[in-house]
Amino acid sequence: MAKITFLGAAGTVTGSKYLIEAGGKKLLVDCGLFQGPNELTQRNWNPLPLDAATIDWVVVTHAHIDHTGYLPKIVKAGYRGPIYCDAATRELGQLLLLDSAHLQEEDAKYAAKKKYSSHANPLPLYSTPDAQAALNQFKEIPRSDSFTISPEFSVRTHDAGHILGSCWLELTITENGKQTVIVFSGDVGRYDQPILNDPTPPSRADFLLCESTYGDRDHPSGSVADALADAINRVAKRGGAVVIPSFAVGRTQTLMWYLRQLDEAKRIPQIPVYVDSPMAISVTGIYAKHGEDHDLDFTNAEQQGNKDPLNLREVKMTRTVDESKAINNVASCVIISASGMATGGRILHHLAQRLPDAKNAVLLVGYQGEGTNGRALQEGAQYLRIHGQEVKVNAEVVTVDQLSAHAGRSELLRWLSGFTAAPKQTFLVHGEPVALESFRAAVTNRLHWPVTVPAYLQSFDLNS
Ligand SMILES: [Zn+2]
Repeated sequence: MAKITFLGAAGTVTGSKYLIEAGGKKLLVDCGLFQGPNELTQRNWNPLPLDAATIDWVVVTHAHIDHTGYLPKIVKAGYRGPIYCDAATRELGQLLLLDSAHLQEEDAKYAAKKKYSSHANPLPLYSTPDAQAALNQFKEIPRSDSFTISPEFSVRTHDAGHILGSCWLELTITENGKQTVIVFSGDVGRYDQPILNDPTPPSRADFLLCESTYGDRDHPSGSVADALADAINRVAKRGGAVVIPSFAVGRTQTLMWYLRQLDEAKRIPQIPVYVDSPMAISVTGIYAKHGEDHDLDFTNAEQQGNKDPLNLREVKMTRTVDESKAINNVASCVIISASGMATGGRILHHLAQRLPDAKNAVLLVGYQGEGTNGRALQEGAQYLRIHGQEVKVNAEVVTVDQLSAHAGRSELLRWLSGFTAAPKQTFLVHGEPVALESFRAAVTNRLHWPVTVPAYLQSFDLNS
């Protein structure tokens, strides 16, 4: 009898890993890193409750590190099988896993320098060669089509509309001539957003795993374009710069799309726009390349002669440090740079440069986690400590919180409404406890489906 074990994203939003066992074979869906507080990240260091070498196949839903960032670790621990994903996820994975390995190496160096590790010579969770070895095991599977993994397992990917290449998975298990369908939502994206297709509706499943990141709330309504135009016009009029901390994958490309639209409609002044993040620039190239994921608006824009709808007349992509520093000499401009919560990266140098001047503004366009510089700005900090210096905050701080890559509660319910019949069991995953409980109540009350919130390492038989 088939069985599922929740090796991550159970009661929390990170570490997605679901082990399916059937016919004596083992298949892992997603292989994410735990992120956030120490009690979670410690799990990355604990051995898996099974020998990685005994896993037969891995399938991943999308390239985000909380879904892929543990792959180098299982490869290091002996996993030698294929890592199945679609083409865009493979390309984004190249950038993200190598970046993750680099961060792990930096953390280990920092721990050694500060001597806060209990080990004399702290090692990284994994290294660049480990990430490279994992990437060598990536195998592309078709987009939006079915793929036979083995006599026991076949999988079909469907658009999830979350980031480029993101999918929800329909896994069919065949055992003793009987078929069982499990749907894995992956991360469900938004409806009517730029660039990507809407999430494809599901139709049937015996068992469902549904993410619940925003299971307890909806995103604020209101036009993103209006909010951006207001801020840019106000700041440009006083001769200042708009600094936008932004995630390299997804958020930066969405911003570029909106800026292009505003520029064409002559709703913003002709000031230079800088994308100052080598990773965001590489990701933008991958976004432009994968037409199979583009929605109709994007495809139309491409066909109307705008070969590159993410680019605008005055956009400048800066890869080198010298180019990045030269932006300091431009008084009035828009600067998009990583990281998205201003915890590291080039954005820190732009903030140090621009925060003391009241002419400038910082635009916060994503969730700002507790303890981050972004959150401190949001909460009205007077000073920010950047690179060992106290930086006075005189710049205006504006929050635009309509932008999110995750379905809000109503959008999750809209996606679930695609099912023509109730799954036998719905497992709610990938959410904080409050969001999980709230979404469990919503699914139970509105759809009357049986719902379970699994615990970390809990297993269930999949009786169909
Ligand atoms: Zn994601």
